Amino acid sequence: MITQLEAGTFQKLLNIDANINAIIIGLITVGLITILTFMSYYFEDLARRHKSRSFIMLLGILEAVTLVACMILVQHIFKAINAGNSTNWFYATTQMTLMLYCLYTMQNHFIDVVNIIAPLYVFGHHLTEDNTKFNILFVAILIAMAITVIYIARHRKSIKADEWKYLALQIIYGGIWWILIWSVYKFSPLKTIYMIFGFILYMLIIRLFSKWIRNSFNDYDIMTKKVNYDELTGVRNRANFDETIDEIFKVYGKENSVPLTMAMFDIDRFKDFNDHYGHCAGDKVLQHVAEVFHHQMFKQTSHGQMFRYGGEEFVVIFRGMNVDESSEIIRSIRNSLINDPLYYDGNELNIRISFGVSQLASTDKNIDELFQRVDQYLYRSKKAGRNRITIEDKTFKFETGV
Ligand code: GH3
Ligand code: MG
Ligand code: MG
Repeated sequence: MITQLEAGTFQKLLNIDANINAIIIGLITVGLITILTFMSYYFEDLARRHKSRSFIMLLGILEAVTLVACMILVQHIFKAINAGNSTNWFYATTQMTLMLYCLYTMQNHFIDVVNIIAPLYVFGHHLTEDNTKFNILFVAILIAMAITVIYIARHRKSIKADEWKYLALQIIYGGIWWILIWSVYKFSPLKTIYMIFGFILYMLIIRLFSKWIRNSFNDYDIMTKKVNYDELTGVRNRANFDETIDEIFKVYGKENSVPLTMAMFDIDRFKDFNDHYGHCAGDKVLQHVAEVFHHQMFKQTSHGQMFRYGGEEFVVIFRGMNVDESSEIIRSIRNSLINDPLYYDGNELNIRISFGVSQLASTDKNIDELFQRVDQYLYRSKKAGRNRITIEDKTFKFETGV
């Protein structure tokens, strides 16, 4: 008898069932936030690279659809763990947290729209003709929600930078929702304060957690950059080149109708810069050459990819371009370099470059055969007197900047 009583009191004290539910839903929320964070991070990266408006719009729609799917999932999980009942303050808090989190993280108008029309979706069916008081309150709520969401959407950065502003907007956002929920389910004002407090606490935990995930992503990005990019010049490195050409051959080796061209270049008498002006001047020459090439290539074609192969030797791969088209771009970039001289200690450095260019042939059994040919052509340009370009067996002297 005593044991039974004690067990009951203990159970009540800890409210074990409710707490287990809270833990389950807490873990699910964290899981969903992780997925949403990963998604927004990955999509941001895709959008940065593709830049097409319709593609960015599609990513926005996908984000909004995922948010809605998460909300529906949460609703079903709540029904399952609450024996068919989803009217629970914890449930509302979870959904609000997901929506507000996405509003801050995913910067697209579809998420804004989901936030604005969510009250209509959740409580729209309570709108009836004979309850004017509720209808007026509902419309007021919708307007307040729209203003709050639009304000947050327009000032995301400044809000995130100011803790008090962030907190105030959370209270406003949460407050609007709780007034709406109260108008349907009527509970004491004290409970409202308790719920808003819970919501803020929830958002705080989520914010810290998402910050931690974002930092991990950034660390990973930095690491990937270090592995794939050359520290001095900022262009892709040898390791990345080895990986890329293997992949490229798998595609272009089979597809003979789509051309692929490789160019290799080497700075002429580079050692002299080091010997005359010091190693630092040599570094500046490398940076200058890489920058001009990279910048000009970006301006002229989206098909080229540049790598620092080693020392003062670089490789450029032109996907989908034949040897004539590629050579024309190489010549044009080389002329830009001559017209944009580098000064060191008040002296103009006379930078000249030799090139070897060749196109992948159907007879090439592997990418190495193309690489060897390009390397040989570069060697021929050097042997013929430097400041030259050898394109498929023919060596040409550059007419300008002799
Ligand atoms: P060539 O016209 O035949 O290409 O002559 P070169 O002097 O350019 O070629 P060489 O191979 O004789 O010398 C290349 C030098 O580049 C030797 C090496 O010390 C220097 N070097 C390699 N990497 C770097 C670097 O990152 N910074 C600097 N400053 N020098 C480098
Ligand atoms: Mg050299
Ligand atoms: Mg060299």
